[in-house]
Amino acid sequence: MNYAEFYRRSIEDREAFWAEQARLIDWKQAPRTICDNSKPPFTRWFAGGTTNLCHNAVDRHLKDRPDQPALIYVSTETGIERTYSFAQLHGEVLRAAAALKSLGVKKGDCVLIYMPMIAEAAFAMLACARIGAIHSVVFGGFASVSLASRIEDAKPKLIVSADAGSRGGKVTAYKPLLDEAIRLSKHKPQSVLLVDRGLAPMELGGGRDHDWTALTEQHAGMQVDCEWLDATDISYTIYTSGTTGQPKGVQRDVGGYAVALAASMKHIFLGEPGETYFSTSDIGWVVGHSYIVYGPLLAGMATIMYEGLPIRPDAGVWWSLVEKYKVTAMFSAPTAVRVLKKQDPAFLKKYDLSSLKALFLAGEPLDEPTARWISEGLGVPIIDNYWQTESGWPILTIANGVEKKPSRFGSPGVPMYGYDVKLVHESTGEELTGVNEKGVVVIEGPTPPGFMQTVWGDDERYVRTYWETVPGRMVYSTFDWGIRDKDGYYFILGRTDDVINVAGHRLGTREIEESISSHPNVAEVAVVGVADALKGQVAMAFVVARDSSTLPDAASRLKLEGDIMKLVDGQLGAVARPSRVHFVNLLPKTRSGKLLRRAIQAVAEGRDPGDLTTIEDPAALQQIRDLIVSK
Ligand code: AMP
Repeated sequence: MNYAEFYRRSIEDREAFWAEQARLIDWKQAPRTICDNSKPPFTRWFAGGTTNLCHNAVDRHLKDRPDQPALIYVSTETGIERTYSFAQLHGEVLRAAAALKSLGVKKGDCVLIYMPMIAEAAFAMLACARIGAIHSVVFGGFASVSLASRIEDAKPKLIVSADAGSRGGKVTAYKPLLDEAIRLSKHKPQSVLLVDRGLAPMELGGGRDHDWTALTEQHAGMQVDCEWLDATDISYTIYTSGTTGQPKGVQRDVGGYAVALAASMKHIFLGEPGETYFSTSDIGWVVGHSYIVYGPLLAGMATIMYEGLPIRPDAGVWWSLVEKYKVTAMFSAPTAVRVLKKQDPAFLKKYDLSSLKALFLAGEPLDEPTARWISEGLGVPIIDNYWQTESGWPILTIANGVEKKPSRFGSPGVPMYGYDVKLVHESTGEELTGVNEKGVVVIEGPTPPGFMQTVWGDDERYVRTYWETVPGRMVYSTFDWGIRDKDGYYFILGRTDDVINVAGHRLGTREIEESISSHPNVAEVAVVGVADALKGQVAMAFVVARDSSTLPDAASRLKLEGDIMKLVDGQLGAVARPSRVHFVNLLPKTRSGKLLRRAIQAVAEGRDPGDLTTIEDPAALQQIRDLIVSK
């Protein structure tokens, strides 16, 4: 089929197009309305229909493929490797669902999942989906302060967690971080359910804490029916950072999400029932939700859930899994490929990769040398795809399932069906149609199925944050700069806001600044994202000490730098740790006191900071320049 025509129908004949896609999933009751956009920007998809994500991901496949692999769990941290067939996965999810119910979890309750990459995390997510509980998975690499703000906002009735996570052989105990987070949060969960992996000592507090294994075993063999949910009910929330304030809970529906994922598996990710999908992400990120857990299972595929590093025991580990499990589609991030690029290229040739149809990469800009290296090394197409936590599935890419097209190095591709993507002028809001004209990437409503419904608990914040930033028009802003070439391929040029992207993980500079400011010897701080060859970007901090007499020499500065890094590790997690903390006497600000963040960033990257007519004291920027040059 012709993609241009497919795309045109998705926008101009929206209802018919999505009514067709809706047939990719099972409905208990068929939708009455396909797209209700009567209260923009809140789009309600498939209203009147009832369905269930767990039914579509698991139960639906019991008839045709009960004994085919569904979840393949591999941990190179613990050496555990286990395949669950659809029937076995069903059994695990049933007992998890019964355990949740026994703790009083009901439809509409929130369950926060703070877990390492273990199979139980997927069981817990699917169990929530089954009984209509709203899960909120928090990345296991976050520490107590990040976790506390999410607990406070999500207000979970239950938290599911584990004794510890492990990365590169280094064990991080979760329970103390969780206990501290609950102590810090104003909201307290009624119960905590803990998986004991035997990695770290763990005490279960009387009354509140329960043991996963004991409780699920008590409920083995119990039947828990799927709760038939309205298509517009909430399936989950996932927190993401923005420019201002606390992280936002991105809220997603049930029916639209199921349809969007099923359609994307067919049209974009080339997924066929019985095949194997391997996404190297983490369940704590949106890619983990969409393309480790729900998407592949909805498509009747086996999904690999991998705990470990890409280079341990050696840089061939992922490819050995591709050979062993005959992986047909793989999904990873450019940073991971850049890590592999530093290793012996012979690893790419060591295994039989003939089953692999494509490697999909997303989360951050894919640079051309990295794309070429992996494409030549693997001999399969590399498909860059651009999206966000908010969208839930790709906004820009190539839909090879509809029409085979080559991808272009440096470009994630063209707008996906359902997304009316435009480029607009940042300050006038005028649409930019010229070739290679730079503008803000925006989406004209109605947003497609799978897209966020709202910010959890704060409709007004959803509208204000995303839909009211472009002057004169109500469009969804991605906060990314982009250009479009003569053939309609987009190129993403970085964020328009203060969000930085470290190894594909989105971080708000303000959150890191807040954490650093809590150090008693920090008077002021600015955090900026600085280009990095491996991670895309890293956070760099510039600090004005409260008492500069405590920093007479390099050794004392190094000590404070180390203390600040430890503080951020403990509060937010290692992902947010700045790569460097530099000490300055003052920060560059405008005469009205606004921090000149973009100028700091430019200087830190060795670029020209541009127009500085509003700067209060140019010496402040010079100091940063000197520090960067002398490092
Ligand atoms: P997150 O919500 O954490 O997935 O971050 C989304 C942001 O990551 C986007 O707004 C972009 O800035 C960036 N991003 C994601 N995928 C790509 C891609 N394929 N190319 C360029 N930037 C990307």
